[in-house]
Amino acid sequence: MTGWGDWTTWSTILKSRYLTIRRYVIKTYCFEPFGSAVRRSKNPSRYHQYQKLRSNSSPSLSPPLSPSINQQFLPDIMTFATIPFEILIEICDYLHPSDLYNLTMVCKRYRSLLWDKTSTTTQLIWKSSRKNFINNLNVDPPGKMCEQEFIWLMLLLNKCMFCNQTDKFELTMHWEFKMYCCFKCLNERTICKLTLLQKYNFPEELLACLPQLQKNPNPRDPPLYLIRDVENLFKQYNYEKDKKNWVKERQDQIIKLNIENEQYNTLHDQVRYDHTERLERLLRKLHDFYSNNRT
Ligand SMILES: [Zn+2]
Repeated sequence: MTGWGDWTTWSTILKSRYLTIRRYVIKTYCFEPFGSAVRRSKNPSRYHQYQKLRSNSSPSLSPPLSPSINQQFLPDIMTFATIPFEILIEICDYLHPSDLYNLTMVCKRYRSLLWDKTSTTTQLIWKSSRKNFINNLNVDPPGKMCEQEFIWLMLLLNKCMFCNQTDKFELTMHWEFKMYCCFKCLNERTICKLTLLQKYNFPEELLACLPQLQKNPNPRDPPLYLIRDVENLFKQYNYEKDKKNWVKERQDQIIKLNIENEQYNTLHDQVRYDHTERLERLLRKLHDFYSNNRT
């Protein structure tokens, strides 16, 4: 996303923290990151704070200028677009993960810095933000998952991944499939054990090679599997020459993965929902269960 709307987002992000950030940048780098923005501020108290800050760091001060609208706007854009990466990285240390995410939408430059999934620096920025601002999310992402995806799934994603359902009581994290979605979308993408065995003659020994849904909406229903996982597994199975060993190795991996998935599902619920919400989700689940099994 680009355009003036992004500039507004940038401004909103830093509004609450600008004094802390500016003080740090001025002291450390003798550099005024938001100078022109503050000088043209119509808020007298904000200007006073700026004057006070500048008086501690620089002896010479000029009175606030009153340039034309175009002259005011241009230097701000240039300042924000040219902040050195070292300083930007320091600034990011003060930002919540949701602010970092908003920052990726400001311009390509910030997006390339913050959306890099392989850069150690970028991963450390997100990791630091996660540990500083998100309670209960001190565990690192699993396997090869990057920090951005981990935080996105655990916290930032606030609607169904596949439709526009935003009611959080209708949404559930299924970490085994890396999906946060509603029941309808889950149903469209999964297949049950009985269908696989009876309709498709799927080899039963291969079922233990697949991650299965741990939070089945109705615990009495047969296990659910992701259709994409089934297709991929079947392709690999046909390709393997030593099928017996491959199946054994795969089954051992799934046993470990099931334990890990359960831990991340629990962690997700602790991070995303408070105590009251967790209780309400449980009560709704019980209500649904008894309603479905009454007849
Ligand atoms: Zn959905």
